[in-house]
Amino acid sequence: PAAPQPAPPAAESLAGDVTEDPDQLKAENSFFTKVLRTQLVESKTEVEVQQRDPNSPLYSVKTFEELKLHKSLLEGVYGMGFNKPSKIQETALPMLMCDPPQNMIAQSQSGTGKTAAFVLATLSRIEVAARYPQALILAPTYELALQIGEVLQKMASRTEIVVEHAIRGKRYARGTKIQAHVIVGTPGTTVDWIFKLKFFDPRQLKVFVLDEADVMVSQQGHQEQSIRIKKQLDTRCQCLLFSATYEEDVMRFAQTVIPDPILIRLKREEQSLDTIKQFYVMCSNENEKYESLCNIYGTITIGQTMIFCKLKSTATWLVKKMTEDGHAVAMLTSDISIEDRLATLNRYREGREKVLITTNVCARGIDIEQVTVVINFDLPTVHGSGAPDMETYLHRIGRTGRFGKKGIAINFVDSADTLRMIKSIQNYFNKNIVKLDTDDTDEIE
Ligand code: ADP
Repeated sequence: PAAPQPAPPAAESLAGDVTEDPDQLKAENSFFTKVLRTQLVESKTEVEVQQRDPNSPLYSVKTFEELKLHKSLLEGVYGMGFNKPSKIQETALPMLMCDPPQNMIAQSQSGTGKTAAFVLATLSRIEVAARYPQALILAPTYELALQIGEVLQKMASRTEIVVEHAIRGKRYARGTKIQAHVIVGTPGTTVDWIFKLKFFDPRQLKVFVLDEADVMVSQQGHQEQSIRIKKQLDTRCQCLLFSATYEEDVMRFAQTVIPDPILIRLKREEQSLDTIKQFYVMCSNENEKYESLCNIYGTITIGQTMIFCKLKSTATWLVKKMTEDGHAVAMLTSDISIEDRLATLNRYREGREKVLITTNVCARGIDIEQVTVVINFDLPTVHGSGAPDMETYLHRIGRTGRFGKKGIAINFVDSADTLRMIKSIQNYFNKNIVKLDTDDTDEIE
């Protein structure tokens, strides 16, 4: 006799499921994207420059030599394997490094070279002989601050510049005066170091950087802490802000902390569904969805697959069932520690696991370029409504022109409502979504 089937999760009984804090995940995903991004994201779009001071340099650079960097710093840049400036760096670097220093707000998607740009510009302004903090870089989380610290250290490896981290767990005796040249930290600890412990004098800072400002605005208290620090700075201190997105709240915050900035922007390349074959599968419940998934499993694991569920409990249930049936699948949910999630993502990126099961919230914003099959076990919906979330759908499934690789998207439909959602996605993007019979998978092969 067949073994008793574990019951699929019922949405009502899942109080624990709504605890995925989107703001916290935003910060964590930003970190994953950073760590996983080993290559620059190239872009065909043009850099836009707004509110330019007529005195600021008009030119852009095509080589690092043109920046007249100190030899040891140039060696650091080449040591990192950078041959030429990225698109945003071409425009941003001369503006960042000119005299008198210019304030800047720069926005471009993650992976386009913002961190490398401000790290280089920051290091170029350090006077090694002066043994006090001359630059302060703020990041929204412990992990992101460490990550920036690593880039600073790598780029400064041929110089005598010393980097310090103002993050939780770093302790010094009261009365200590920090001698490092650059401090990278989180807003909370940095506020303590400045106001309570007086480890360094903010008025001596020449450069102040707010990185990942879009993540920062979503974190409790970071805006006020950043503004509090900003108020202590000398008026000549160069203030810089970087963001991966261009939302209104981010830009409002940016304009409050950065006086008279140059604003530069590199728009994200449009994603499209042109090279994607989209399907839907009719099912009547979760168990039927599972069976359909098993039917197409052999076909989808030729490439790499990501499966999105609405709830953590569905993801957990699915992983358990698939594992019991002998399939090797990986899971990514917010219950898993950051270290383990990173390890999972890395294994998946290296192709050691073919199938990654995750939730709508958890994998938002993580780009894994080589995914060839995306399965919406549940369709993405706008929070609190039954309407499909078109932006998430496009982001998950769409490709930019450059990575115009062919892809497959399969949507599971389990009710008249979800079928209506499929129709509205189809109308919205004006692209056919074809009904797929999972007993006959010729169409997707
Ligand atoms: P962002 O801050 O916009 O997310 P990063 O500065 O972290 O982007 O750069 C993304 C990736 O590209 C990193 O792995 C970084 O080492 C690399 N990178 C940055 N600038 C260059 C460059 N000029 N040439 C080659 N690789 C670069």
